[in-house]
Amino acid sequence: MLTNPLTKNIGADNTAADIGRYRENGGYRGWRKALQMSPADIIEMVQEAGLRGRGGAGFNTGLKWSFVPQGEDAPAVRYLVCNADEMEPGTFKDRLLMERDPHLLLEGMAIAAFAIGARRAYIFIRGEYHLAAARLENAIEEARREQLIGDSIPDTDFQLHIHVHRSAGNYICGEETALLNALEGQRAIPRTKPPFPQVSGLWGKPTVVNNVETLCNIPHLLDLGVDWYKNLGRADDSGTKVFGVSGRVRNPGAWELPMGTPIREIIEQHAGGMRDGVKLRGLLPGGGSTDFLGPDQLDLPMDYDTIGKAGSRMGTGTITILDDHTCPVGLVLNLSRFFARESCGWCTPCRDGLPWIVTILERIERGDGQPGDLDLLREQAQRMGPGNTFCALAPGAAAPIQSALKLFEQDFVQHLTRGCCPYAQEQQRVAQ
Ligand code: NAD
Repeated sequence: MLTNPLTKNIGADNTAADIGRYRENGGYRGWRKALQMSPADIIEMVQEAGLRGRGGAGFNTGLKWSFVPQGEDAPAVRYLVCNADEMEPGTFKDRLLMERDPHLLLEGMAIAAFAIGARRAYIFIRGEYHLAAARLENAIEEARREQLIGDSIPDTDFQLHIHVHRSAGNYICGEETALLNALEGQRAIPRTKPPFPQVSGLWGKPTVVNNVETLCNIPHLLDLGVDWYKNLGRADDSGTKVFGVSGRVRNPGAWELPMGTPIREIIEQHAGGMRDGVKLRGLLPGGGSTDFLGPDQLDLPMDYDTIGKAGSRMGTGTITILDDHTCPVGLVLNLSRFFARESCGWCTPCRDGLPWIVTILERIERGDGQPGDLDLLREQAQRMGPGNTFCALAPGAAAPIQSALKLFEQDFVQHLTRGCCPYAQEQQRVAQ
């Protein structure tokens, strides 16, 4: 039984699977099967399989596709957009998939576009992902030459054109409605939802925005079926996931594993455990906009609902580890600087709140903190919470701060009482 559908074509060398190798390994079989099915049956199959969006939010993919208006009164023009603007801190899974197996993404996009009736599709890719963009453009050309996409796909009147659009930068472009504005050539700020893009998206037309890894799940699901797909998961969620680990572990990297693989197994077996001399103090389970989990939560399976119930989010599934030689205040300061810089400035709690948080964290970190600073931080983070902003950027930025204040409160207090960063002090002592 195939257990690594996302990475089966990825070898040890840094080459991309070309169309020949991809097809020899069964590539585009899912696309051929899809063309024999009705779009409604494909949508139902994806929904039943329980595939959830791998960009971080975990929304049911088939359900999302089902919101695209169908029938005679529905707009004839629709779009599929692949969100390849991978910028979540600590996240590097989509890059791997695009660089090493670009045809898997194209095949997933072809099936998704056919299911929702989109004849034009865009890959909105992070500007710095030069190699991935070049390999995707090459793969699009190969697929067009073999008439797998384009104007004349044999045995169907369906046509599909796929374009690569390089982002001009900014984390906010990964928010789906800001992304659509950017694609239209407008300022990248989030739109009000509803209407959701599935109803009114790119140039006001029905549009589905799916993450790279989500779309890469589609070809084998079509080829091997719902039961196979569901059985890949080890806990509540179906399928596999590219999990990753960064931080002071022996073997940082990314691996395709069953959904529901326990955190401990990912860190100890795949990332090789902590390096000598350092201990794990906490972790961000899925990028810089998730809440810290503690060492007592390592046995949790990585699936959306379990990590949600445990007080965080699985997010992108790429774990960032905090060790006992790294200052948690410095870590959240680093993240907050990133989010403050990347704010689009559209709403006040984010535009003004994040720089304010950076100012407070900077003075705590350098030892100039004031007695009320921790309460001020809590209050400020609370103001950026869900419901107070247009998009998830500010609430996401607040998550590591709020959870660090709970889990590592004593570290913040020590900065205040000692008037310096205890970690920097310890490093100086060791160096002397
Ligand atoms: P969201 O939960 O608002 O939406 C997720 C998806 O489901 C969207 O496509 C949305 O259109 C759809 N959806 C949600 N509710 C719907 C409804 N009622 N009707 C129709 N469609 C609906 O989340 P979001 O703001 O799109 O994304 C936030 C997530 O993005 C976070 O979890 C974060 O981890 C992740 N993120 C990822 C990256 C990255 O680089 N991969 C970067 C930033 C953020």
